[in-house]
Amino acid sequence: MAVNPDPPEKMKFQLTLRRRGISDLSVLRAMEEVPREDFVEPSDRDDAYRDSALGIACGQTISQPFVVAYMTEQLQLRKDHRVLEIGTGSGYQAAILSRLCRLVLTIERYRTLADSARKRLEKLGYYNVEVLLGDGFDVPTGAGDFDRIIVTAAMEQIPDKLMERLEPGGVLIAPVGPHHGTQTLVRVTRTETGFDRKDLVDVRFVPALSGIAREL
Ligand code: SAH
Repeated sequence: MAVNPDPPEKMKFQLTLRRRGISDLSVLRAMEEVPREDFVEPSDRDDAYRDSALGIACGQTISQPFVVAYMTEQLQLRKDHRVLEIGTGSGYQAAILSRLCRLVLTIERYRTLADSARKRLEKLGYYNVEVLLGDGFDVPTGAGDFDRIIVTAAMEQIPDKLMERLEPGGVLIAPVGPHHGTQTLVRVTRTETGFDRKDLVDVRFVPALSGIAREL
């Protein structure tokens, strides 16, 4: 196994997150604790603490650390929350979430990614994460409703039936916009009377596609 990146690199990682505006200490701590080098491709381990997205299997990506931290901060998680993530990918975002809430259900449409994320999370001891092979556009009703929902693939629009899976007072964050190009990170809050929507920042995510992937 490769050795852990040296401390200066991790210190720089924290400084970059702070400089870019992440101020929630529990989020910064989670970003410090979760070993990103274990979620990237072996050949990218040396770049694990650079603030950039990296390629993973099935032509997908592990998001840029700043975006992971920013989305997590915007979710305003509490220890008792049950969280749904759509787009498991490497499992990195799920691991970060798992440090800050009670339970994470994360859904991935590629079997290869779902299986390897499940194994990786188990090996690293993130026992409050459940990885499900499935379609985030069709979340099983048996899974119930969620305090928080985070979508980590670009949706052209947020389906009403996904917003309806929020508990009252719940918050959803998703990149919304064209599949290829720039999207806007949108935060939706479920109020007593409906939904409040706020546009946050521009982002670029791989597309959310419906159905379980046929290859792999
Ligand atoms: N959160 C991930 C990165 C996500 S990349 C991480 O931390 O590594 C986006 C992921 O969403 C890809 O793995 C892609 O396969 C998945 N995805 C796209 N559409 C989906 C859908 N409808 N349901 C579930 N997963 C989906």
